[in-house]
Amino acid sequence: MMSSGLEDILPLSPMQEGLLFHSRYEQDGADVYAVQHVFDIEGTLDAARLRTAVRALVQRHPNLRAGFRQVESGGTVQLIPRQVDVPWAEYDLASLPAAEAEAEILRLAAKEHGIRFDLAQPPLLRFTLVRLAGAHHRLVMTTHHILLDGWSMPILVHELLTLYGSHGDAAGLPRPTPYRQYLGWLAQQDRPAAEAAWRKALVGLEQPTLVAAVDPARPALMPERITVELDEDRTTALTDWARRQGVTTNTVLQAAWALVLSRHTGHDDVVFGAVVAGRDPQLPGVEAMVGLLITMVPVRVVLDPAQSLTETVMRLQDEQTRLTAHHHLGLPRIQQLAGPGDLFDTAMVFENYPWDESTELPDTGLRVTPDLGSGRDATHYPLTLVAAPGRRLYLRLDYRDDLVDRASAAGFLDRLIQVLDLVSTATATSTDSDTGTGPAATELPVGRIDLLTDEERATLSAAPDDVARTTGATLPGLFEAWAVGTPDTPAVVCGETALTYRELDERANRLAHVLTTRGIGPEDIVALALPRSTDLVLAVLAVLKAGAAYLPLDPEYPPARLTHMVTDARPALLLTTTATRSSLPTTHDTPVLLLDAPDTATDLAGRPTHSPTPALAPDHPAYVIYTSGSTGRPKGVVMPAGVLLNLLQWHHREIGGQPGTRTAQFTAISFDVSAQEVLSALLFGKTLVIPAEDVRRDAARFAEWLEDQRVEELFAPNLVLEALAEAAVEQGRTLPRLLTVAQAGEALTPSRLSREFHRSVPGRVLHNHYGPTETHVVTAHTLGHDPDDWPLSVPIGRPIVNTRAYVLGSGLQLAAPGVVGELYIAGAGVARGYLHRPALTAERFVADPYGSEPGARMYRTGDLVRRNADGNLEFVGRADQQVKIRGVPYRTRRDRGRVDRSSRHHPGRRGRA
Ligand code: AMP
Ligand code: MG
Repeated sequence: MMSSGLEDILPLSPMQEGLLFHSRYEQDGADVYAVQHVFDIEGTLDAARLRTAVRALVQRHPNLRAGFRQVESGGTVQLIPRQVDVPWAEYDLASLPAAEAEAEILRLAAKEHGIRFDLAQPPLLRFTLVRLAGAHHRLVMTTHHILLDGWSMPILVHELLTLYGSHGDAAGLPRPTPYRQYLGWLAQQDRPAAEAAWRKALVGLEQPTLVAAVDPARPALMPERITVELDEDRTTALTDWARRQGVTTNTVLQAAWALVLSRHTGHDDVVFGAVVAGRDPQLPGVEAMVGLLITMVPVRVVLDPAQSLTETVMRLQDEQTRLTAHHHLGLPRIQQLAGPGDLFDTAMVFENYPWDESTELPDTGLRVTPDLGSGRDATHYPLTLVAAPGRRLYLRLDYRDDLVDRASAAGFLDRLIQVLDLVSTATATSTDSDTGTGPAATELPVGRIDLLTDEERATLSAAPDDVARTTGATLPGLFEAWAVGTPDTPAVVCGETALTYRELDERANRLAHVLTTRGIGPEDIVALALPRSTDLVLAVLAVLKAGAAYLPLDPEYPPARLTHMVTDARPALLLTTTATRSSLPTTHDTPVLLLDAPDTATDLAGRPTHSPTPALAPDHPAYVIYTSGSTGRPKGVVMPAGVLLNLLQWHHREIGGQPGTRTAQFTAISFDVSAQEVLSALLFGKTLVIPAEDVRRDAARFAEWLEDQRVEELFAPNLVLEALAEAAVEQGRTLPRLLTVAQAGEALTPSRLSREFHRSVPGRVLHNHYGPTETHVVTAHTLGHDPDDWPLSVPIGRPIVNTRAYVLGSGLQLAAPGVVGELYIAGAGVARGYLHRPALTAERFVADPYGSEPGARMYRTGDLVRRNADGNLEFVGRADQQVKIRGVPYRTRRDRGRVDRSSRHHPGRRGRA
């Protein structure tokens, strides 16, 4: 391009800047912003005359001649040469059978589309004219999006035909408004006001809305498409409904898309990109302009689950109307205001121009009709929804199949249509208020809108087969059977002390008699403040044998916390030792039994050795364990024996272990996992081996101890397993006897080293257990034998037997597979509630809308999860850290702090420092 041939130099519009950025950045893949329009031309056509018309058209609109060059300052300008040669190719396929001709056109068009435009080399448009049999032609126009938008196309076609009629004489056409004028208009807009408006529109947005993990290094691909049309009745109903609410069909679609995105991401605050016409009526002649005037703006939709769809749509219309005057600011700047990173990765285009109409040239019989199905235009986004109004609403979802598979894309479109159907059927019901039907779906809170297929709904809420629990089984009863069956097997070992099943049973029975004669029985609480020892295990059993619930008090806890637990729980008795008692705060009027006092010993010696257990019901509490409370008061979770029995029987079936298997009693007794440890051993004939406190706190000594003690089963959190693997590898130990490892309490993220540690012993199995204190372990996942196949973060798996796990959105609607929602637990895994805290219990243990049993409850965990393609649940994070509704965090268990969570673990690596 020689300077003498230069007509003009123009800046770029923000949208042009954006497209230029993508074209430069994505040099490798297809240029997704290469656009192709195909027109069907009927009537006798003079090809040379059409070519003249094309030349005149390009001459008439300087911006169609633009090339994009970087200047020394680093910026880019568009250079407009006085003249360009528009590439023009002609093919005659008239002799081919129709099908072959069509195939050849497809091939030609694809080839044209594939030839990359060099944005520095104008013109950025090319034409191919194909002659077909009969009086038919096909015109293929290939251009770069940086020149033209869809709104320009009907204008362009109309002008092209007029120029054809006049043999290229533009005199009959009105003088066009040049693109330069639009750029000038852009420069005059009030940027500070626009910036303020966009800042306000995006304030408080917590996270971007992304449907695909975008790898920035991945070249863009031309998307695949799924197309549907709404039938005429539904289209009319939809547009009528919109009109009655005083909103546009575009807004209804935007709200519907937002709802679909919200259900996909699990966020109530979503953003997507919308292409807006950018044709501000204040710019004279804008309606007849040809060029790139569209712009992309973020549409943020805050979905209040309590608001109806109607209210949501009206609010959205309001919010968007207020932003119209600020569209000119352009996406690059708006993104900047919002902070680093992309705000969204889905886009929506509502093409409200006469998009499928034919244009006819009077007196010639020549008629040009766009062939929509053959056109190509795309974006680099993983998903782009294209909608075009008309008698039948046309919807097209473009999806990049390297990022979103076809089934998922179809799922997005299905859900969108479900929302639109709610609207079109609302029209039918709400006009007929006498039918006695309930409120239209558009009047229900959006939180209650369910966007699942029947099949999804059935699988998501289905209860697993009810496996009958051993009828009549009780916790003490299962233990006592071993005292009879294998009386000489060691039941519990701690250092030099070891008790066989018979010894443990007899001693626990004597202590249980002491308790029952003090009037202790079902529904009573006995606090235990005892050091790690066989006596502690014995005391737990004795309390259970008396039919009461044990309350573990960790003597290491801060005095204030212990005081709170004792005054809150009001135990009937405190079992402790002389030494431990002296370190406890005064426990007011709680009766105390000192296990090591001489008169206790005398008392115990005089008691019978048979079991005093009264009749027990599954609902009788087995323990009260306090939640860790970093802020707020810790709450006592009352756990019925039936819940524990269900867990233990599941454990026995799934994890197994022979009688005599040596199980470590690693977990601090004040954490619920210890109940599973202790009872899964003692109720199934195993041997519980207790490490001393200083051993369990030191990974190196713990590894040595596990080997010495020939431990076969270990329960420990991820952090401890990592430290243990490191210590074991350092010491050259594989711990060959350790075959069963169960992780619970935090996300299981095995490092390379710990994978090696697991691999080193064939047959070693790693389990991931999940559950809050309020439900104990309720989901589980067993890893396969090859650590190379383990995911980085291990799923928490599936609900255990007789337990249901629901993934719910903020309106308690079932979340679709793959969608993040909050985990609710129902069925056999749910505790009775918080001790003496009925209001709090009612808040967290809520009615189960999917349960079949009357009065069924579910526990709201506050954990965010998603169900993956295998049906396993994946832990995503805590709801209180991620989800906010309208900027206000909803109430969650904020008392579950990191500080306290880590205290149950031995410090591992830190412990050796
Ligand atoms: P707590 O009630 O103190 O036992 O804490 C239970 C919480 O720990 C759960 O709500 C989760 O946030 C977390 N948690 C427990 N087990 C797992 C696990 N296997 N994976 C991920 N998070 C877990
Ligand atoms: Mg727990």
